[in-house]
Amino acid sequence: MSSISTFPDVMEKLVSLAKRRGFIFQSSEIYGGTGSVWDYGPLGVELKKNLKDRWWNAMVRMRDDVEGLDAAILMHPRVWEASGHVAGFTDPLVDCRNCKRRFRADDPKIKGTPGAPDAQCPACGMKGTLSEPRLFNLMFKTFMGPVEDTASVVYLRPETAQGIFVNFLNVQQSTRQKVPFGIAQIGKAFRNEITPGNFIFRTREFEQMEMQFFVDPAGNHMEWFEYWKAQRMEWHRLLGLREERLQFHQHDPQELAHYARAAFDIQYDFGGSLGFQEVEGVHHRGDFDLGRHQEYSGKKLEYFDQPNNRRYVPFVIETSVGADRTLLALLVNAYREEQVAGEDEGRTVLALHPSLAPVKAGVFPLVKKDGMPEMATRLASELRRHFPVFYDESGAIGRRYRRQDEVGTPYGITIDGQSTADQTVTIRDRDTLQQERIDATRVVEVLRERLAT
Ligand code: ATP
Repeated sequence: MSSISTFPDVMEKLVSLAKRRGFIFQSSEIYGGTGSVWDYGPLGVELKKNLKDRWWNAMVRMRDDVEGLDAAILMHPRVWEASGHVAGFTDPLVDCRNCKRRFRADDPKIKGTPGAPDAQCPACGMKGTLSEPRLFNLMFKTFMGPVEDTASVVYLRPETAQGIFVNFLNVQQSTRQKVPFGIAQIGKAFRNEITPGNFIFRTREFEQMEMQFFVDPAGNHMEWFEYWKAQRMEWHRLLGLREERLQFHQHDPQELAHYARAAFDIQYDFGGSLGFQEVEGVHHRGDFDLGRHQEYSGKKLEYFDQPNNRRYVPFVIETSVGADRTLLALLVNAYREEQVAGEDEGRTVLALHPSLAPVKAGVFPLVKKDGMPEMATRLASELRRHFPVFYDESGAIGRRYRRQDEVGTPYGITIDGQSTADQTVTIRDRDTLQQERIDATRVVEVLRERLAT
C-alpha cells in the first residue's frame, strides 16, 4: 500500500550517512552481508536506546496502570499453534525450477500465472519454470536440546505479544493490578520476510515495543481503543515526527484479522516511492488471544472481578510499534541539507529531538594552545557525568560544528581566548546557529534546561 510521496527520497543518503558516521552497518559486512539484517554502531545504539527509553517512560514509568515485562524469545511451541502463527503466518511463494530463485506469488514482475506454461520467471526470464504457489511460513525454526527432530522444533518469536499473553495472570496476580491495566515489553522479533528491504524498514530481525491493555468486555472497551489511538499518535508527534507526515489508516474488512474488532495503523510518510507506511498498529483483539491460550494450555486465564463477583476473559487493546522502523522514520524526518548564510559550504543536519540525539553536546577548544584544550577537557569530563558529550580539537572550528550537525548533536560548547580569561564559553544551537556566551559554571544547568524541553 505505498503511494508516491511529495517528500523527497533520502534513503540512499541516509544509508551512506548511517554507515560513515557509525549509526548502522550491514550485518557481517566483511562476508558480503546477511540479507536484511543490520547492526547498530556507536551512535545508532545510543539513538535507539533513547527512543526505547522514551517509549518505556511514556508507557510504563509514567503510568500506574501499565506494568513492564521481559519475556524470553524462545517459547513453548504450542504458543505458536494457539496464536495461529503455525497455521496462518504464511506468504504464498513460487519457485523457479531453472534459476532456483523464490518470489511472492503476487510479485508484479511475474508475467502470467505461476504454474502455467506461459508464466515467465522475473529473474532468469525462462518460461514455464515457475511452480504453483505454495505457502511459506515466516517463522524461523530451530531446535531445543541435543536432538534435531520434529519433537524438538522451537521458533524464534515473530512478535513479542505472546510473551505478554501467557504471563497475563502472573503479572496481574503479582502486582495486584485491577482491570483495566496493561503489560508492556520491548524485545526482538524475527520474521523470515520474503520481500525485505528499504534499509531498516523491513528486516528479518527487529525490535518491537508492544503493550497489551486488558479491559472489561462488558465495559467501555471501545473508549479505551480510542484513548490508546490518540495516546499513541501523540507519542509520535512528541518525538518530533512532522504532523503532515503522520496519519491514521483504518483497516478495511479485508485487511482486518478475523478476530479483530477494529484496527488502525499509524503511518508515516517516508518520502519517495515508499510514501505513507505503517510504523505502529493499534488493534482491538477482543478475547481471541487469551481465549486461545486457555483452550490450548487447558489453564484458565480469567480475571476475577472481586467487587462484582464476576469472572471473565478480558478484551485486549494492543499497541505495537517497531523500534527500528520508528528510528528510520526519525532519521528521514530529521535529515536536511541546507545553505548557511555567509558560508560557501552547505551543511547536512540531523534535526533530531534533543532527547533522542545520541550526543548532547560537542566540546571544542577554538585552537590547540593557550590553555584552551586544558579548560575544554576539564569541562568535557565534568559534562560527561551528566550527558553524553563529544570532545573534538581537530580541524577548523566550522568543520567540527558540521561534523556534529550531521549526527544531530543539539549544542556546541566552544572555549576561546576569552574563556581562559573570564571563565565563560559560547553555546551554539544546532538549529538556529545562534551563539550565546555563558559562565562555564552554568553549562550543566543551561544544557539540562534546554534538553528538558
Ligand atoms: P507489515 O505489514 O509492514 O509487514 P505488520 O502489519 O506485519 O507490518 P505488525 O505485525 O502489526 O506488522 O507489527 C507491528 C510493528 O512491528 C509494525 O508496525 C512495524 O513497525 C514493526 N515490524 C513488523 N515487521 C517488521 C519487519 N520485518 N521489520 C521491521 N519492523 C517490523
